[in-house]
Amino acid sequence: AVHETPKTAKRIEFDEFGPSSVLKYVEVEVPQPKEGEVLVKNYAIGVNFIDTYQRSGLYRVAKLPKSGLGTEAAGVIQVVGSGVSEFEPGSRVCYYRSSLGAYAEYHIVPASALVKIPDDIDYDIAAASILKGLTVHYLLRQIVKVKKGDIGLFTAGAGGVGLIAMQWARHLGAKLIATASSHQKCELAKKYGAWQTINTSEEDTAQRVLEITEGKKVPVVFDSIGKDTWQSSLKCLSRRGLLISYGNASGPVTDANVGDLAANGSLFLTRPTLWDYSDDVPGMADELFSLIRSGAIKIEINQRYDLKDAKAAHDGLASRNTTGATVLYPEE
Ligand code: NDP
Repeated sequence: AVHETPKTAKRIEFDEFGPSSVLKYVEVEVPQPKEGEVLVKNYAIGVNFIDTYQRSGLYRVAKLPKSGLGTEAAGVIQVVGSGVSEFEPGSRVCYYRSSLGAYAEYHIVPASALVKIPDDIDYDIAAASILKGLTVHYLLRQIVKVKKGDIGLFTAGAGGVGLIAMQWARHLGAKLIATASSHQKCELAKKYGAWQTINTSEEDTAQRVLEITEGKKVPVVFDSIGKDTWQSSLKCLSRRGLLISYGNASGPVTDANVGDLAANGSLFLTRPTLWDYSDDVPGMADELFSLIRSGAIKIEINQRYDLKDAKAAHDGLASRNTTGATVLYPEE
C-alpha cells in the first residue's frame, strides 16, 4: 500500500568535494515528480565505489554548492508524474542511473531509468545487484562474450562487482583468476567461483599469472583498480590481448603510454562505462534476475548501514576491508 507522502524527509547531502566527512544527514522537502518522472520511496540503497569518486571530486558530476549522492536504489513508486503510463504507485522498482541523490528516503527518478523488480526478489537484493550485476553483464556478456573454458584475470574478485563476476563466469564455464588483498578475501572469491586466486599483499600478480598459465598469460584482464595495476595488467596479457580498464579504486590512470600497448604484444585497450552498454536494460536485468532466482548467483550483502551512516559505509569501502556489496537502509 502507498502511504501519504510526507512534506519532508531525510537524505544525505554534501556541499563541497572532499573526504567522507563532507557527507551530512539532513531533512529536506520531498519534491514532486515532473513530466516523465516518478517519486520513489527507497527501501534499500546500493553503495558503489563510484559514489566515493563523486563525493571526492574525482568525478565532478555533482552540482554544488548542494548535492545529493548515489544513483542506485530499490523501493516502491510513491507518485507518478504526468505522461508516465507504464508504472503506477505501488510498483516495485529499482534503478541505477538516476541523477545524484539516491542516498535518500525519497528520490525523483526518470521513468525511463526504472527497472521492474520481480516479485520474488527482495528490495535489498535488487539495490545490491542492479548496478553491479549489469556491470558484470556488459563485462562478460557484451565486451567479451565469455564462453566455456575462457581464461581471464579479474581484479578485486571479492568485492561487490567481483563476487557477482566470479559466479557469473563460473556459470558460463569460464576460468577467472581473481586478485584480492588478503587470504580471507581470496578464499571468498574462490568459494564464489574463482578458478585461481592471487593474494596481492603477498604475491606479484604478473609473476603468478605467468606461473598459473604456464607462460601463456591471459587474453583478457578486467581491471577496476586503475593506477596501481596499470603496468602489471599490461604484463599479464598475451599477444593481442584486451585490457578492460573499468575503474579507479586506487586512483585514475593518467600516465598511460600508447607505446606500452605495442611493447606488451599489440594489445587492445578499452575504458568502458555501464552507461554505454545500457542499450537493452530490460533484457540485461532479466538475465541477471534469472540467475539470482535460479541460485546461480547469490548476492552477498556483507555491509549494512542505516542511511544516516553513509560516511561509515564510504570509510569501509576505502579501507579495503569490505567484501561483496554494501547497502544503506532508510529508517522504517
Ligand atoms: P568493491 O567492493 O570492488 O571495492 C573496491 C575494491 O578495490 C576494494 O575492496 C579493494 O579490494 C580494491 N582496491 C584496490 N586498491 C584500492 C585502494 N587503493 N583503495 C580502495 N580499494 C582498493 O567496489 P565496487 O564493487 O563498488 O566497484 C568495483 C570497481 O568497479 C570500482 O573500481 C568501480 O569504480 C568499478 N565500476 C565501474 C563501472 C563502469 O561501468 N566503468 C561500473 C561499476 C563499478 P582488494 O583490497 O581485495 O584489492
